[in-house]
This record gives sequence, structure tokens and C-alpha cells, in this order.
Amino acid sequence: MAEVFTPSVLRKIMLGPVIPLGINWAYYNDYYQWMANHETELKNLENMAYWRSLKNEAERNLPPSANRSPSFIPYRILKIREDIMITQLTYLLGEGGFNKAKNRYNDDRTCMKCGVLIKNMGRYLNALENETRALVEVKKDIFKTTDEEYRAAQAKIMKKLSTQYTPLEIEKAQIYLPERLSRHMMNDIHGFCPACWEDTIKPKLGWKDSISK
Ligand SMILES: [Zn+2]
Repeated sequence: MAEVFTPSVLRKIMLGPVIPLGINWAYYNDYYQWMANHETELKNLENMAYWRSLKNEAERNLPPSANRSPSFIPYRILKIREDIMITQLTYLLGEGGFNKAKNRYNDDRTCMKCGVLIKNMGRYLNALENETRALVEVKKDIFKTTDEEYRAAQAKIMKKLSTQYTPLEIEKAQIYLPERLSRHMMNDIHGFCPACWEDTIKPKLGWKDSISK
């Protein structure tokens, strides 16, 4: 249900404890009005089933393809979601407070929150995966290894690598710790390392109950 926010309702919402002193009232009015206008999208920001449901007739009837899974969501729809995120990030962090492109590719990119060098997090995870795998495969095939055996070998390699990377690089990389048969690619997300994105940026995005009442 779409709720129309009158100026008095908006004012009541804005008097909540979440608003810092010295705010720009016109700015918050604008932000909350924008949120109210995008309530459904914001409430479903992380619900990919919602975005998948926006497929049109032609997109639903695409013939099966080897490089398209059933959970495929067309770029047209992902772009709508991405634009909403970018607008919200702009309201929350300002134009220069994040990176508009989802990923940057320059080698010297650092997290805009904690300052970690993204490239070194990737190097740490690569070394961890390659050396763990090599250690495990001295004894047996990686496919025949148990998760417990893999983790024991990984712990040994982590100890070895602990002197070659900074504590911050190691701490922030833990979010993408490789598993026996899978790993994540390390990249920044809108200017932040994945750990800072998950812990401090993502929780600010989407619909916030503090504005609904
Ligand atoms: Zn960070």
C-alpha cells in the first residue's frame, strides 16, 4: 500500500532519534519522500525473488540457454535495483562518499572505510587457497578430502601467512575465507572492502522502519 506523506507526517517522522542535530531539513524531507515513493523496491532490495518477478512476458519466455540459469535476472531489471542503491548511497554518503561503479579495477584501490588495500586481500586469499590445496594434495585428492582435513591444513597455512600480511588485511579477508571446493573473487563493492560493505554499509540500505512510524 502506497502511503502519501503529508508535510506534518514527515515532520513527525523526522523528529525521531535517528536524525542528528544540525540536519538539513529540506534534504531529509527529500530523502524520506524518495523512500516513500520506492517503498516496495526498498523493502525487497535483498529479495532477489522480487526482482525476478519483474520479468516481462518476453523475458519469461526466453528459450533455454546453456549460459542462462533458471534464476537468471535480466540486466534491465538489475539496473533498476542498482540505480536505487546508488541513489540511496548518494543520500547517505554524499556524491564523493562511495564509488558509483560497482567494482573498481585499479591495483592501488583501498577501502573507503577502513583503508585496506583490496589487492593485498586478494593476494592473501589466493595464497591461502593455493598453499592449502597443495598441502592437502600431498596426501590425497582434494575431492576425497573432508572439510575437517581441509580446515586443519588451512589453519596451518594461515599461521604461516600471518607474518606476510598486515593484521588489517588478514582480518578483513576472513569474510571470504576459501572453502574446500569453492572460493569468492575478491573485489571492492562500491568502493568498500566486502567486510566493511557487509558490516557497515549494507545495513544502512533498504527500507528503514524508523520512517514508517
Ligand atoms: Zn574496509
